[in-house]
Amino acid sequence: MDQIELIHVSKKFTTKTLGTVTAVNNLNLKIKEGECFSILGPSGCGKTTTLRMIAGFEDLSDGEIYLSGRPVSVKEKNLYIPPEKRGLGMVFQSFAVWPHMNLFENVAFPLRVQNINKTEIKKRVEEALHHTNLDGMGKAYPSDLSGGQQQRIALARAIITNPKVMLLDEPFSNLDPKTRESMRFEIKKLQKKFNFTIIFVTHDQSEAMAISDRMMVMDMGNIVQVDTPTNLYNKPINRFVHNFLGKSNFTRVIIENNKVYPRNDKSQPLSCELPNNGEREAVLATRPNTIELNHTNGYKTKIEKRIFLTNYIEYIVKVGDQIIQVQTPHFDEFKEGQTCYVKFPSVMWYSAEEDLKDNERDCRQII
Ligand code: ADP
Ligand code: MG
Repeated sequence: MDQIELIHVSKKFTTKTLGTVTAVNNLNLKIKEGECFSILGPSGCGKTTTLRMIAGFEDLSDGEIYLSGRPVSVKEKNLYIPPEKRGLGMVFQSFAVWPHMNLFENVAFPLRVQNINKTEIKKRVEEALHHTNLDGMGKAYPSDLSGGQQQRIALARAIITNPKVMLLDEPFSNLDPKTRESMRFEIKKLQKKFNFTIIFVTHDQSEAMAISDRMMVMDMGNIVQVDTPTNLYNKPINRFVHNFLGKSNFTRVIIENNKVYPRNDKSQPLSCELPNNGEREAVLATRPNTIELNHTNGYKTKIEKRIFLTNYIEYIVKVGDQIIQVQTPHFDEFKEGQTCYVKFPSVMWYSAEEDLKDNERDCRQII
């Protein structure tokens, strides 16, 4: 059975200044038991709103939500189960620990409100502190701890009720990069131990890729694509996903006589396979690390710029009047100004109109 199911879920907010904003638009989604599922997308695309509706902190404007087959929000029937009765754990970006309570009391809180006896509480708090590497720290106060440790308190408090689903909203965004990385492993370890399903919200694509079984990319309240991290990275459905999931080059091209030319330059064709939709104009999308630079064959150009980065060298080259970035390992070196040849063994094709759509989106986000 699916553990979480959203059917036609929408959320509109009405504000005095902005009028009505559609934060989430007709979302249909199924998440399986035990999955680690990420919701990924730029700021304002509706991630938090989606999570808050699943948690029950936000009413729906339309649609239905089921947890393990049980309806928890059904707009049409005015059915709404409050958050504390949904069996979920939650951790937010802001550490959300109570500063006036010590660690023990912070973690014990969800059990105290359930009137569980003292001996049981003590046993379970100690266990939760142990699993979050906070052994023996029950008497400390949150202000005595680092950001990473404070977020562990929030995790301990979330696991103590043995939730079936853990909702995490950018939980590691306020931590330094190293702590952040280690917390990813910790959350996965906790998942193995306690067998919960994870919904992980983030705007950080590498974080989502590192921990997810599947991810959903959202844009302006809509689902754009749902798939495994590998499939999303290798087969992004459109230019937006391609760009969001990693470094991308988008080159406008013209296809003529079964050859691909950079727009505004028919002097030589690009070395790549043809798109199969028969269009005359298209966008050629490439990842900088899949482009081949060599000394003998391909599209002849020159190195405009060479940038030494720790794991690779980045070269800027031009195809026609368009710039592309190429990343290669250190052993394959070219100098600035040197002639080189470019090949594109691995490409994705998008329609030329996507250029316009992207520009529209950029404008809207700036506004
Ligand atoms: P994300 O978490 O992806 O950054 P949110 O879900 O927080 O995005 O917000 C989605 C959209 O809904 C944004 O345009 C935001 O301004 C709007 N929004 C969110 N919460 C409210 C609210 N309480 N009142 C009005 N607008 C809101
Ligand atoms: Mg958010």
